Amino acid sequence: MLVYSGSRMVRGLVLLALVSGCTGSGAAPERDPASLDTPEIKSTLDAFAGDRIRQHMATLADDALEGRAPGTDGFERALRYVETTLRSYGVEPAGEGGSFRQRVPLRSSKVVEGSSALSVASKAGNKTLTYGVDYLLGADHLRENVTIENAPVAFVGYGVSAPALGYDDYAAAASVEGKVVAYLSGAPASLPSNERAYFSSGAVKEAEAAKRGAIGTVSFTSPDDPRFRWNVSVATSKQGSFAWLDERGNPNRGNTALRGSVSLNHSGVEALFAGAPKPLAGVFADAAASKPQAFELVTRLSVSTRTAHRGVESANLVGRVAGTDRDLQDEHVVYTAHVDHFGRGVAMEGDDIYNGAHDNASGAAIVLEVARAFATLPTRSRRSTLFTFVTAEEWGLLGSDFFARNPTVPRDGLVANLALDMPFLFHPLLDIVPYGAQHSTLSGPVGQAAGHLGIGLADDPIPEQVLFIRSDHYSFVRQGIPSLFIKSGFKTGNPALDGAAINAAYRRDVYHKPNDDMSQPFDFEAGAAHARLNFLTGWLVAQQTARPVWNDGDFFGELFKVPVSTSR
Ligand SMILES: [Zn+2]
Repeated sequence: MLVYSGSRMVRGLVLLALVSGCTGSGAAPERDPASLDTPEIKSTLDAFAGDRIRQHMATLADDALEGRAPGTDGFERALRYVETTLRSYGVEPAGEGGSFRQRVPLRSSKVVEGSSALSVASKAGNKTLTYGVDYLLGADHLRENVTIENAPVAFVGYGVSAPALGYDDYAAAASVEGKVVAYLSGAPASLPSNERAYFSSGAVKEAEAAKRGAIGTVSFTSPDDPRFRWNVSVATSKQGSFAWLDERGNPNRGNTALRGSVSLNHSGVEALFAGAPKPLAGVFADAAASKPQAFELVTRLSVSTRTAHRGVESANLVGRVAGTDRDLQDEHVVYTAHVDHFGRGVAMEGDDIYNGAHDNASGAAIVLEVARAFATLPTRSRRSTLFTFVTAEEWGLLGSDFFARNPTVPRDGLVANLALDMPFLFHPLLDIVPYGAQHSTLSGPVGQAAGHLGIGLADDPIPEQVLFIRSDHYSFVRQGIPSLFIKSGFKTGNPALDGAAINAAYRRDVYHKPNDDMSQPFDFEAGAAHARLNFLTGWLVAQQTARPVWNDGDFFGELFKVPVSTSR
């Protein structure tokens, strides 16, 4: 298993130090433009304040903004706050037509539950399952009505085909042509963390199934998967789904070959696997052991999905601080944080406002403070910096995907992305997990910045959470742009605070629920520390003459080498 190696990074740092030590040898010694040991950098780092992070978070997560769902007044108020703050910091507009805005037209698609149905046929007869109890359906972005009638079902393990990485569920499968494929959520633990994340993506699995002639998909979760929280899935599914629309009005997602997308609760899985040649316990055991598996189920599936469509106007916000180097100023280091969250929805414990304080008022607050730092630097950076506050992340990274495919600055000038999304602000920042660093030369600047700030580096402690595909940096990765997504590690510096336990408890009890609000015990100084680290990392990228590149032969570098556009 390829793991992110701390020792490799240390070697990189030593090399970097040697290289920077060599510059200027000869005549008059030149100042290293990327030196961190200057009074200017020191005063800029000192100026980051936890209290400003707190103020931004408190404003964005206030009940008055009603959870910032795309298309709502609360979202619009959040964008206005971000825009006003950027202006006050001296950041310039870099959206459309001289404004801060980039219009993002969306389609909202919601399942009409009363007109949708799912039944499982077996020798014992036909069993009609109950929506929201046994199963949920994915809304169809393309069609109002789709049906699957009495189709055979092929179980295909995780639904992952990665022969180059030594794993292929489909290798053992009969043809799935004309069948519904059923697969487990996630991807085998034997894959390296970020590759595992890639293959766990629903879109990747659906594309694989459609390519092989499947007509629908069923996903379900192993009983011990920590991501499984049925009540939260039911609540968020009632908010529907979004797609962004291209200039011809076509949604960016949806596959005409697939006529139904089902997710099952455990009771639904029992019904579907009735009489299966392998008992479910064996299925889960083989999945946990990363053993590819595939077999035909004896049940047949009928699904009808009715979807209501609605147009929704939303927007990204883009600010810029121009660089000073004539050769580099058309290149941009891009920072991203999503502003949206789930709005008002199903009440839990009497609260129906999904405030999204950590997810992601915290990231937006940090990017605002990074923007302030770049805008107030006495000596502006060589490359330009871009600050993108995006919409509809919660529905599939939509705002960032729209921006990365249709940037408001020259596309080949996007040199790196740093995304902030619930960085984990529940204890002091002593170590970080820099998702993405192992794939590109961004390991250099992030390692150098962390070293300068006395912050350690850690391997991904929770690969089962497949974080590498779960936030906005991944939209840039898909366009071939080296990216970083930096999260707090588990070190707390306090034996009474167990970082792993705090992380697990947040994901189980708070994440994507109305209680993700400002009543949590946030450590705002950790927010300031994340801001310093992300500023410093991006500043190094902006100062160094060579732009970041993917490592030779890197999985993601190769995969997304030729940007694929579904929109143009
Ligand atoms: Zn979220």
